[in-house]
Amino acid sequence: MKVAIIGAGFAGLAAAWDLRRAGHAVTIYEAADYVGGLASGFREPGWEWSVEKFYHHWFASDKHMLGLIKELGLEEKVIFPRPLTVMYHDGKFHPFDSIIKALLFPGLGFGINKIRFGLVGLFLRLTNNWRALEKSTVDAWLRKWAGEKVYKMMWEPLVIGKFGERYYRQVTMAWMWARLKARTTRLGTFEGGFQEFADLFAEKLRKVGVEIRLQTPVTRIEGAAGGGGVTVRSETAEAYDKALVTLSPEAMTRLVPSLPENYLHGLRGMKSMGAVALALALERQLSEEGYYWYNLPKSAGYPFLALVEHTNFVSPEHFSGDHIVYMGDYLEPEHEFFRLGQEELLERFLPALKKINPKFERDWVRKAWLFRTAYAQPVPLVDHSQNIPSIETPVKGVYFASMSQVYPWDRGTNFAVEIGRRAARVMSQ
Ligand SMILES: Cc1cc2nc3c(=O)[nH]c(=O)nc-3n(C[C@H](O)[C@H](O)[C@H](O)COP(=O)(O)OP(=O)(O)OC[C@H]3O[C@@H](n4cnc5c(N)ncnc54)[C@H](O)[C@@H]3O)c2cc1C
Repeated sequence: MKVAIIGAGFAGLAAAWDLRRAGHAVTIYEAADYVGGLASGFREPGWEWSVEKFYHHWFASDKHMLGLIKELGLEEKVIFPRPLTVMYHDGKFHPFDSIIKALLFPGLGFGINKIRFGLVGLFLRLTNNWRALEKSTVDAWLRKWAGEKVYKMMWEPLVIGKFGERYYRQVTMAWMWARLKARTTRLGTFEGGFQEFADLFAEKLRKVGVEIRLQTPVTRIEGAAGGGGVTVRSETAEAYDKALVTLSPEAMTRLVPSLPENYLHGLRGMKSMGAVALALALERQLSEEGYYWYNLPKSAGYPFLALVEHTNFVSPEHFSGDHIVYMGDYLEPEHEFFRLGQEELLERFLPALKKINPKFERDWVRKAWLFRTAYAQPVPLVDHSQNIPSIETPVKGVYFASMSQVYPWDRGTNFAVEIGRRAARVMSQ
């Protein structure tokens, strides 16, 4: 078969790998001038490693990603440092990266709340019946079983942070179950950064004969009359037997308007959040305690959700001594942070760094970068499994594999690989 893949993120790259090895002729169309999609990175002159535009790490349980890396013979480049995650309570930050540390967290007090927190955590770790959980919202289920105080202290800030005021009460409990089930305290990355891995992967794909066309946005995909193949329109129009789209549901509606109304309706029903990240190169370490990840409740007055000091995860030596810090948040694309310029956002965000380290001064900032994306985090609602668009679409020859179809697991590069490979299997049938 002659196959087109739209998007050179990890879903597209993984699908290309399997389709090519199954003997098909594969062309990847990528709008940007680099591969890696949302997990791509950038490198300043003088830096030995690249850094992701949006903070990224792997979990030790990311078996699809780690399995693929092994298949590519690159496993020696994966490292698993053990960085520290902290959570806010009463003006202080407390380690929060193991069950023991979570149980020692002072926000829960002593007695019944701690027991409820422990029991609910244990139940969610042990059960595999996420289908029963997907009928409830995180909000209703945890209020009931963990109790009002535990929910408000431990979970509500997380769901508000990730899904915003508009959606947080509607998110299915299956999402929270999957998050607790799959995440590990060990966090991994690739020597040289995620971009290095994406580039090595692309190099291997090219070697086995995959064509990767960068800076080639696809504008439309049409099914041929009579059902024999598809036409992919970019700067040219080319015929293929099959095409796989790995973009957002919204982009899919634009690329394939000939999809029947019920499938389009399903795509339009998929909700998602955007993301804003300000990355900073600082002259000094921000977190003197060496913390990597700060979960920040908006209720404590922080203007963003997560503060991530990347160089407390990997050494600043790889960035010619720069200390890399991100300030990031998930927001609806209509939020003003998608319109404000970098300087205006710095004005809003930087004062919060003094709360992390009172010695912080603006002149520590050597350089700043602003990254934004309208499609960053799908919002899985109650009974989401009933509403996921199928990989094989009703337009013959057109297939769809996106973050919005990853479920109940929280989207991530591991699941981009999984869905890309699943799409390759469906297309090969
Ligand atoms: C803030 C943030 C933090 C994250 N943290 C982590 C993490 O710690 N660990 C982790 O594993 N994952 C993380 N993720 C998720 C991870 O980045 C994604 O799940 C994964 O990269 C999705 O891959 P994909 O191939 O499905 O999509 P994408 O990476 O979005 O790839 C789609 C590609 O299509 C291209 N494209 C768009 N339009 C067109 C067009 N018309 N024609 C051709 N090409 C087009 C895009 O340029 C892009 O390269 C994070 C994401 C965000 C936003």
